Amino acid sequence: SIPLGYFGGIGGASSKGILVKGGNYLEELRNIKSIIFDKTGTLTKGVFKVTQVISFNQGVNKEKVVEIAAHVEHYSNHPIAVSIINEYNKNIDEKRVKDITEVAGKGVKALFDGKMVAVGNRKLMEQENVSIGDIDTIVGTKVYVAMDNKLMGIIVIADELKSDTINAIKELKNYGVEDIVMLTGDHKDVAEDIAKRVGITRYYSDLLPDEKVDKLEEIMNGVGKNDTVVFVGDGINDAPVLARADVGIAMGGVGSDAAIEAADVVLMSDELSSIPTAMRVSKNTNKIVW
Ligand code: ADP
Ligand code: MG
Repeated sequence: SIPLGYFGGIGGASSKGILVKGGNYLEELRNIKSIIFDKTGTLTKGVFKVTQVISFNQGVNKEKVVEIAAHVEHYSNHPIAVSIINEYNKNIDEKRVKDITEVAGKGVKALFDGKMVAVGNRKLMEQENVSIGDIDTIVGTKVYVAMDNKLMGIIVIADELKSDTINAIKELKNYGVEDIVMLTGDHKDVAEDIAKRVGITRYYSDLLPDEKVDKLEEIMNGVGKNDTVVFVGDGINDAPVLARADVGIAMGGVGSDAAIEAADVVLMSDELSSIPTAMRVSKNTNKIVW
């Protein structure tokens, strides 16, 4: 039987903008051993801004680099795509783009003006045999723009931390959560910078969506039977991880429909401080039951 107190707990949580899809999930939040965060859209706002455009002058200037990328990205709803389309700020001529393929965790490929274009990260460039040289002095997430397998330019974008991320992590540590982890598909340099700023020492970067699931399972296999492993994500490329965790927590605001569907708990405000709040509700609820 389900203790009545849990219903009260779920109601108490929902009045705080935390939707819990079952009393068992609320109960599990008492025993969090590991809490794993996605980076983009979870620890950060997921609202990127273009901070720098570099052109390698192969007859393609900075404006043209952005024009090409915006056209190829126009079908994608990834936060990176949105930032590039905002930067272009002109009408997209859909007739110039054909055969669009979005490669999860890597970027987008398409024919633009009849030429093969790839827009995405280092992994996509490797897949497309585009050599990108050594450009390690640039800070931020780098989006490479290649045409006919040659690098035309780089669009550098930056994201901001959510205002309560640092505090929420501190609170979780105060509540005795031993293991706080970050998983991201982004490059190591960006991952390291964000992890340092929020106080996370264990992080894994350059992960494809499948590899995020593998990493989660590895962590789940390393804890006790009654220990809870929580994953917190926005669902863009991580709905399978949300579904696999003991408790999957999704962002209700920026999160995708797939994420909200796959998750066990939905944070309506997208604020990470809702997680310590949920833990508090969970603990108080048990007091009522016993
Ligand atoms: P995160 O784990 O940070 O939430 P994702 O799994 O959504 O990131 O994406 C991982 C990486 O794949 C991004 O950092 C980016 O380099 C690349 N990427 C994914 N989608 C796109 C896109 N539409 N355009 C450009 N790059 C993309
Ligand atoms: Mg994400």
